[in-house]
Amino acid sequence: MAKESWRYDHLTWPEMKARLARKPQPVVAIPIGAVEDHGPHMSISTDNDILEGVLAECGRRAEGDLLILPVIPFGLDEHHMDFPGTIAIDIQTTLAYLAQTAISVARHGFAHILIVNGHGSNASICDLAARECVLKTGMVCASTTVNAAVSPALVQDVLDTERKGGPGSVGHACEYETAMMLHLHPDRVEMGKAYRDVGQLKLKYFNWDYPEPSAYAWQDWWSRFSREGICGDAAAATPEFGRRMFDVTVTRFVEMAREFRAIPIKPRVDHH
Ligand SMILES: [Zn+2]
Repeated sequence: MAKESWRYDHLTWPEMKARLARKPQPVVAIPIGAVEDHGPHMSISTDNDILEGVLAECGRRAEGDLLILPVIPFGLDEHHMDFPGTIAIDIQTTLAYLAQTAISVARHGFAHILIVNGHGSNASICDLAARECVLKTGMVCASTTVNAAVSPALVQDVLDTERKGGPGSVGHACEYETAMMLHLHPDRVEMGKAYRDVGQLKLKYFNWDYPEPSAYAWQDWWSRFSREGICGDAAAATPEFGRRMFDVTVTRFVEMAREFRAIPIKPRVDHH
């Protein structure tokens, strides 16, 4: 990989010093993913592949407004350990490692930091790491995602209208993630082994099916409800859908980062 001006760790320290002094400062993105089963048809690198692919293009298009760390490749994954190859880091270690990464960035003087999650079960930890960074440094740190199967908020309108698999098609190793991989790394997808698995639990107050909300949060051991690690309609995925989701995600993420950067840091007021 050539030296990339948007890669945080490709800069020299004098170059980093210059970026810190730049007005406006770049937003620093800290991606964290996972190595875990993604069905019988995709490599266990899928979450990290989607993060890397989307964020690299965001970095290229942002013209200096984004600096992107290398992907932290492992996260909270004990619940996938029944599938060979998964790497599981516990809650406390993941939170501490991620928070200390963000706090390091903030201590150098970067004022706006985005933790970018690529794996659903990291979500609560990413929120807490961002909170810890704000409380310990006073900088503006938030958590987000570029993977619509983790949270579709950035691209929900396009996902809703353009997916083909219907209710339940987007979850994990699903129509969305398979399409993204067909676009980014078709060599890591075997569509002959992809199928539709949308038989997950659906109750009045709880369901796995995107996009209906559940009244409570619960995560089970994956081998208790998913036969081979698919949750959704992997067979409905196409490279065209992947390209479309990729493009809209990149465009909106860069726009979102620029909006985020405009959040002012106001002084605290001690009312004692
Ligand atoms: Zn995934």
